[in-house]
Amino acid sequence: MYPQHYKFTLKPLPYRYDALEPYIDTLTMQLHHDRHLKTYIDNLNDALKNYPKYHNWDLKRLIEYANWLPHDIQLKVKRNAGGVYNHIFYFNNMAPNGERGDVSRQLETALEETFGGFSEFCKTFKQEALNVFGSGYAWLVVTKKGDLKIIKTANQDTPLVLGMEPVICIDVWEHAYYLKHYNKRGDYVDDWFNVLNLDFASSAYTNSINNSCL
Ligand code: MN
Repeated sequence: MYPQHYKFTLKPLPYRYDALEPYIDTLTMQLHHDRHLKTYIDNLNDALKNYPKYHNWDLKRLIEYANWLPHDIQLKVKRNAGGVYNHIFYFNNMAPNGERGDVSRQLETALEETFGGFSEFCKTFKQEALNVFGSGYAWLVVTKKGDLKIIKTANQDTPLVLGMEPVICIDVWEHAYYLKHYNKRGDYVDDWFNVLNLDFASSAYTNSINNSCL
């Protein structure tokens, strides 16, 4: 999913800017993709430009092995590679309301076992998204043991450094919703569930289970 390495480029969204209306507005999608994601990409390239040794490292490797990088670029790479990874995951895990597909049987069963069902999962996930203090993300992840779990990350931290594989994520930085929903994060989360890409989540779950240490 992230085979790219330096020099990182801004890829188009997998849908039109207005495709998530009326749940996520067009201007928010334009700014979020063309400015916020682009800035993380530019800053990541800038951090790496004088370090050709790392130009063949893909995004996941830069994140997971950030501690191996030279001290003077470590933090900049960590933050910006995280920003790139998280945003690409977030954008890909949304789809126009009529093109979201379905929860696979495999994911449905796991959600049932862990949370008591999809709608119960949504309630808990919303609560966790509301509990993110300041800027960050809420995630549904697969742990090393292969269990489903909801976690929160701050700023542009990723679940990857925790050894967890993401299945679903919501960006709850204010730039993700402020233009339409103002300070009402709960309204944004409710709207966002209408554009959660269920096919994408199902595939991410299957891939994660296959990669985990079961
Ligand atoms: Mn964002």
